[in-house]
Amino acid sequence: MEALALQKKEQRNAELRERLLQLKKERNAIILAHFYQRPEIQEVADFIGDSFGLAQKAKETEADVILFCGVHFMGESAKILNPNKTVIIPDERAGCPMADMVNVEGLRKVKAQHPNAKVVAYINTSADVKAETHICCTSSNAQRVIESVDSDEIIWVPDKNLGHYVSQFTSKKMIIWEGYCNTHDQLSVQDIMLMKAEYPEALVVVHPECRPEVVALADYVGSTTGILKFCKESSKKEFIIGTEDGTRYMLEKDSPNKHFYYASKYLVCPNMKVNTLKKCVEALETLKPQIYVPEHVANAARASLERMLEVAPG
Ligand code: SF4
Repeated sequence: MEALALQKKEQRNAELRERLLQLKKERNAIILAHFYQRPEIQEVADFIGDSFGLAQKAKETEADVILFCGVHFMGESAKILNPNKTVIIPDERAGCPMADMVNVEGLRKVKAQHPNAKVVAYINTSADVKAETHICCTSSNAQRVIESVDSDEIIWVPDKNLGHYVSQFTSKKMIIWEGYCNTHDQLSVQDIMLMKAEYPEALVVVHPECRPEVVALADYVGSTTGILKFCKESSKKEFIIGTEDGTRYMLEKDSPNKHFYYASKYLVCPNMKVNTLKKCVEALETLKPQIYVPEHVANAARASLERMLEVAPG
């Protein structure tokens, strides 16, 4: 019965894939997918990446339409970098709770309290918030970005865990916002210890959005791209993974003979998973939902994103 259901699902996905590829051609579209997307979406994507790689790709593309499979702020970044292109997302409910933890009003208050500080925003922020910041960064370039800023005082938004992690590598004063990623922040020391007891040979590899006490137990800490590279190049065969479950697709593709044990069954971002192949097809059929960013907001946010791309191009 289960095998039959699986077979039906595969057949349905094959039909959707075919339709999607046809629409992609008709629309002159590119499909960009985040590493946390469902495997069937990663399979059809033209480019799979983390926030940084996707922002770069969005800036380079010559396609007329960008179908951005990720969460809302990522689609906004693509639109900001490509104001003349049509940017669509599979489901407008795909938001990021961490990005929603900072708003313009709150940020302006903190800026007023620290008039000499410059704001560094993790790319996981809305366009409105980016427009209030000096420079954006991602987990792969945060340290370089912080050092590039012409101020010894930094207001950091919104992820407190990543903020804490990067603050260890700078002498600058960091005023850290209290946001967090629900998916990474719930990973506990106990989760890691239980996995280490079960797989004593495995290396612990985590994303810096995890809590400091979890990061302290890791053999490697890095962005999603960093994690993929580390696991691929390592001579070790077993890894305890402390990041979102969607990364399994690429980890297993890159290293089919290695073993990846996810440190918790809750390492699944429900927001990333609202996107489905069917919704991708519908989005390319209707060119909806489209991302729209008001021009004055886009201009200010673009300056912040482009500063990042200049300072840390890769
Ligand atoms: S994994 Fe965390 S930071 Fe990424 S979209 Fe989900 S909630 Fe936001």
